[in-house]
Amino acid sequence: MSATLDRFSHRLSAVFGLVFGSSLNRAHAQNKLARHIVALNGKTTPSEIINEVADCLKGILGYRLFAFVNKKNTGVDVWLDPRMYKTSIEEIIIKDFQVKDTKDLTYLNIHKGREECLEKFSLDSLVHYDHKEENCYSRLYMMPSKPITEFHDEVVRIVLQGCSAALSRQIKIQRLQDAAAIDPLTGCYNRRAFETQLKGYASGAARHGKPLSVFMFDLDHFKSVNDTYGHLGGDEVLKEVSRVVRRNIRTEDLLARYGGEEFIAILPETDQAHAIELADRLRQKIFALRIPFNNRTIRVTASFGVAQLGDGADIKKLVEDADSMLYKAKFNGRNTVMPGLIKVHRDETSSSSIQIKSSLCRQ
Ligand code: GH3
Ligand code: MG
Ligand code: MG
Repeated sequence: MSATLDRFSHRLSAVFGLVFGSSLNRAHAQNKLARHIVALNGKTTPSEIINEVADCLKGILGYRLFAFVNKKNTGVDVWLDPRMYKTSIEEIIIKDFQVKDTKDLTYLNIHKGREECLEKFSLDSLVHYDHKEENCYSRLYMMPSKPITEFHDEVVRIVLQGCSAALSRQIKIQRLQDAAAIDPLTGCYNRRAFETQLKGYASGAARHGKPLSVFMFDLDHFKSVNDTYGHLGGDEVLKEVSRVVRRNIRTEDLLARYGGEEFIAILPETDQAHAIELADRLRQKIFALRIPFNNRTIRVTASFGVAQLGDGADIKKLVEDADSMLYKAKFNGRNTVMPGLIKVHRDETSSSSIQIKSSLCRQ
């Protein structure tokens, strides 16, 4: 890191020497930029890094609007100036980064409901700068308040280089963290990460007096899938089933691979009745799956056990309850959710339109 800073320092002296006449001004601006570059190195999240860049460019160049886009192997992160008209810049980003639609953009800072007071701009009024680091490609869009000079260009390039280095380092750290927490076959959290996360979710639920449920599911007769289609066929099923489940739960829910063909999900702010409803929807989706493999089609079913966190917030008991419900679902014939649900009319019960029933709930 000190070699990088030395390199910056050398370039800063050259740039500021050209632009600022008096040695006092030169030293002041140079110190300011150097301080921001050092601060960048201490930032640990992408949004902290880009906030620092925004502060730096605003302080030194006084730009009007600013957007930053970072393309990684796994997607495109976007940071927008809160005053920037989102729809206009999105069109530009989608075209420049060849992404399918806005769903592929992850916003590092989201400002909802402010569209009406935003500053509109035309594409011609933006300038952009690119920087490529080994694992990310960044583009900075800027609407300057004054005509761009060589000095502006050079300052932006120095800042962008510092920013990209900080982001690239942060991506490497994130990858290491992910490697320890993510199951490589399915992309779900692994069991260890699940156990760590569950503690946090459960104490949050207890603190805020909110319900929390889990569902556990296990693929039925999976051994015979392996026997019929081979281990690679079985792997394809695990990937496809986990993808379908992930796509049909909320972003705040967490899905983990608990063991071989067994998965578990944490559902914050969800009571048991709603967790059962969700589990049954997922059971039907798995039942409806047709997984192509080597010119054949694999079909599977899954059995689910659901449990809600009790008053004592005992997470060991929560997992045991879900596990014993899963065992019951297997015992009751598989392709089932336990406990099962029946629907009752609202006027038959004052509290809920859903009741839990200890019986089969099968398609
Ligand atoms: P049940 O309906 O009672 O759950 O029966 P089952 O056949 O699914 O259960 P069993 O525990 O007998 O078999 C689970 C199988 O899952 C055996 C194991 O080889 C397979 N398995 C575990 N991990 C993987 C994996 O990563 N890939 C593949 N292809 N198979 C796996
Ligand atoms: Mg099984
Ligand atoms: Mg199993």
